[in-house]
Amino acid sequence: MTALAVLHEVFGFESFRGAQAEIVAHVGAGGDALVLMPTGAGKSLCYQMPAIQRAREGRTTIVVSPLIALMHDQVGALRELGVSAELLNSTLDAQQAAEVERRLLRGDLTLLYAAPERITTPRFLALLDTLHTRGRLALFAIDEAHCVSQWGHDFRPEYRGLAVLHERYADVPRIALTATADALTREDIVERLQLQGARLFVSSFDRPNIRYTIVEKRDATAQLVRFIEREHAGEAGIVYCQSRRKVEELADTLCRHGIEALPYHAGLPAEVRQAHQDRFLREDALVMVATIAFGMGIDKPDVRFVAHVDLPKNIEGYYQETGRAGRDGLSADAWMAYGLQDVVNQRRMIDESPAPEEFKAILRGKLDALLSLAESTDCRRVRLLAYFGEDSQACMNCDNCLHPPTTWDGTEAARMLLSTIYRVQQTSGIAFGAGHILDVLRGKATEKVAQYGHERLSTFGIGAAYSETQLRAVLRQLLALGALGVQPVALSSGRSFDTLVLTEASRAVLRGERTVRLREAAASAARSEARRRDRSARPRLAAAAAALDAAAQARFEALKAWRAGVAREHNLPAYVIFHDATLAAIAERRPRQLDALAQISGMGAAKLEKYGAAVLVVCAGPDDVPGDADADPGQR
Ligand code: ADP
Ligand code: ZN
Repeated sequence: MTALAVLHEVFGFESFRGAQAEIVAHVGAGGDALVLMPTGAGKSLCYQMPAIQRAREGRTTIVVSPLIALMHDQVGALRELGVSAELLNSTLDAQQAAEVERRLLRGDLTLLYAAPERITTPRFLALLDTLHTRGRLALFAIDEAHCVSQWGHDFRPEYRGLAVLHERYADVPRIALTATADALTREDIVERLQLQGARLFVSSFDRPNIRYTIVEKRDATAQLVRFIEREHAGEAGIVYCQSRRKVEELADTLCRHGIEALPYHAGLPAEVRQAHQDRFLREDALVMVATIAFGMGIDKPDVRFVAHVDLPKNIEGYYQETGRAGRDGLSADAWMAYGLQDVVNQRRMIDESPAPEEFKAILRGKLDALLSLAESTDCRRVRLLAYFGEDSQACMNCDNCLHPPTTWDGTEAARMLLSTIYRVQQTSGIAFGAGHILDVLRGKATEKVAQYGHERLSTFGIGAAYSETQLRAVLRQLLALGALGVQPVALSSGRSFDTLVLTEASRAVLRGERTVRLREAAASAARSEARRRDRSARPRLAAAAAALDAAAQARFEALKAWRAGVAREHNLPAYVIFHDATLAAIAERRPRQLDALAQISGMGAAKLEKYGAAVLVVCAGPDDVPGDADADPGQR
């Protein structure tokens, strides 16, 4: 059977996406591959398809996945497609594991999902040896392959052991997949997994349906509530923040505003985490407030927004997290609130980390790239893609493209600020925090100013013409540029506070060799107003069913209700049964026969056989019941 026939028959998809066909052919012919594709582009198919094809020769594909909490759903989704799949991880007891091993040896399995720490045990390797001797290993798929690299953001030491697969079973093809694409991580993956001979497949990293927006942080919580209420009421989303405490507080606050939200972080008991994740996957309109502990491998297709209330560590993290929005291809938002404190915190975390200096330098470089994205006044997408080595044109689907910000020349303000810091430090011999520096610059007669005699400085009050907001923006940008540094000073109380210090790069600004362009802060309120108007004028693409007429809408709702029942019965998320888009197409076309139903994307042979008849009945509805047309409307 050709790959295309399998695609129609098993998956019910019309055609391959992007490089899928090429990858499937390459791996199917025994080649190794390293696949870099953005989240949601369709990586799983790249190994599932060859797995299905090679299973006809009685061979099994071993999938290494770090996502124990999600294996059950992944395997469930394959079984729904009629593909024989199993998992081996710590959630199985000894007897269940032994049964899976027996089935593996019998050649019953098309795919076996296993945790990385399991793969490298002597027991599992002995199993693989047996299969190998019998020529029954089809393929090794190493999912989330960036976990092997400490430059990636989810380093998993167990992944290092996976090189054994190559050393022991050199003739078995391997495919490694990741959505992390920076060059450093890529090279590291190749080296650590010994994929030197592998063909590299790099897809475009663009996610055109995601709209990027970065707003200046004032009151992040209030801004977030407003964003969700105005643009995503009743929709599923993820909110990322940095600390566990903040996760809990924010989830509470959202709930108090009538937005159903759940917390998720590594400090919660495993059962609670699993329960919250299950609810998020299974319910329609839940918001997950989480640390970055949440989300890897989450393949919920209808996440309509990803919000960051704290700055991520780098662009890779930001892109991977925001990539969890809109996997169904419908429009989605990536929204971030960013402020001065974020820059200070992230810089300090790097400074204070015990890592070696050369490692810190890399971390700083990565943070700088993210900061310049946040400060940029041109197309966000162009910058994001450029970071991944891709050229592109202004996208018309990010905040800066849709509402080009007005900028002002902050160079003079920046010079005033830097020279104030210089003078204050020189006369007092100590460094001060941002608050005091701004007070001096704006000429405020505070107690501290009097205490140190700072009203006598030549820069006292020279910045009075600028607002505090403007000067904070200048500060933030200088920090982002590295033209200003932060130094923590320990207090006798055991706490510490951040002081501002000049850096090497400060000089260029002081000498006027470097200009500082800033966003007009006052314009941002007007911009978000304009954005709201723009939103309401344009019909939202978000709902798969937006274009349906009233009767089709009713069929869609009926189909969803039916799907919810099936999903509950099978203990799987609803989208594993059918995507919204599939149900919407059924509701719209209203097929009367199985062969018409089979034409709809997402309707593979196994699903047609299992659910086809039921879907036709639900779709027909009560007005198709024989004799209904003659019924007297007055009697209803
Ligand atoms: P990734 O692992 O790259 O994030 P997935 O493998 O989860 O992405 O695929 C994302 C979504 O796209 C899934 O819902 C999948 O069913 C769908 N998909 C993948 N390939 C195709 C295709 N060729 N045609 C239609 N839908 C596809
Ligand atoms: Zn843009």
